[in-house]
Amino acid sequence: MRSISARARRLPPSTTLKISQMAADMRAKGEDVISLSIGEPDFQTPQPIIDAAKEALERGETHYAPSRGIPELREEIARKMKEENMVDVGPENIIVTIAKHGIFMASQSVVQHGEEVVLPDPGWVSYSAISIFSGAKRVDLRAKEEDGFIPREEDIKNAVGDKTKLFVINTPSNPTGVVYPKKTLKVIADLAEDYDFYVLSDEIYEKLIYRGKHISIASLGNMHERTITLNGFSKAYAMTGWRMGWISAPEHLVDAINKLQQQTITCVPPFIQRAGIVALRECAPCVEDMRKEFEKRRLVALGEIDEMHTMSAFKPSGAFYIFARYLPEMNSFSLAEYLLEEHKVAVTPGGAFGIAGEGYIRISYAASTERLIEGLRRIDRGLGSL
Ligand code: GLU
Repeated sequence: MRSISARARRLPPSTTLKISQMAADMRAKGEDVISLSIGEPDFQTPQPIIDAAKEALERGETHYAPSRGIPELREEIARKMKEENMVDVGPENIIVTIAKHGIFMASQSVVQHGEEVVLPDPGWVSYSAISIFSGAKRVDLRAKEEDGFIPREEDIKNAVGDKTKLFVINTPSNPTGVVYPKKTLKVIADLAEDYDFYVLSDEIYEKLIYRGKHISIASLGNMHERTITLNGFSKAYAMTGWRMGWISAPEHLVDAINKLQQQTITCVPPFIQRAGIVALRECAPCVEDMRKEFEKRRLVALGEIDEMHTMSAFKPSGAFYIFARYLPEMNSFSLAEYLLEEHKVAVTPGGAFGIAGEGYIRISYAASTERLIEGLRRIDRGLGSL
């Protein structure tokens, strides 16, 4: 039998998806598992969005759409980027895609073998695929809890050089929930000018902020010329299953990315794009209601953990995760397995987010308050009996 490619062999499975699948399998067998692992809002997608998709289906919008996206949606996204993110773009700068696929396409479009990609550590599990797909060297930019998980200026400077081609940022961050201050973004922007690299700014959690303010790096100086902004509907509009997002980038990059889109997924289904237009035009109040509910749960979870002696929580400013340092000495992957098997609660091991995440677990509070409290108590019991 011929072997699979070295690239496919090197690619690790997504830990977030793996753990949530394990939890789902256990639930299917009738076990009462509480899932605090995957980052998925437990709310239903707002009704106007569902209705828009249904109406588009009934109208017969069941064929191919333009590969870059339906013009009205690209206009709407460009308007949002201008009004909310202060980024001066037009529809020619926008391509509608599957948000996660956007990371693949954007990185494949700019990064070459032998170049360097800076990744946040701790940082979301799937960024590591960028270097494996492209053959680029990965440079991990560590951030520590004592610095509020914001990378230090000297560490940012040390991470970049002549070979840097792409610098990945994710604010608000998965897994820590930290929101980068303008000062940090400015350091990165200045270095991007000096060393002539692109920034991939993943802003998928921008609507879920409880403290501080979201700033798009593309809005600083001339950064719109070298920033690939990635965003999507999954987290803000409870639309994880719809898989839709977008890229906003300089036009020549959008042209390159569009070729990858044409040669891979062709386009995002048109009825889903119609739903996206309604989400952006009409659903800001629903997003705010969900944000408020997450804010309440955040406080409940932090309050619960505060009473526990088995772990301590880093206070997140955004997203819907708590990155908690646990006391017992145990590898985070083994701990997550133990908590799932013995205590029926699913969390994501901190080590999956990089070396700086080891010793932590990521707890998603995108679950009902009741389940969240019960899940946290199970974690506490599990940690306490080690
Ligand atoms: N980004 C989410 C998480 O970190 C969803 C799962 C994924 O696609 O990785 O849980």
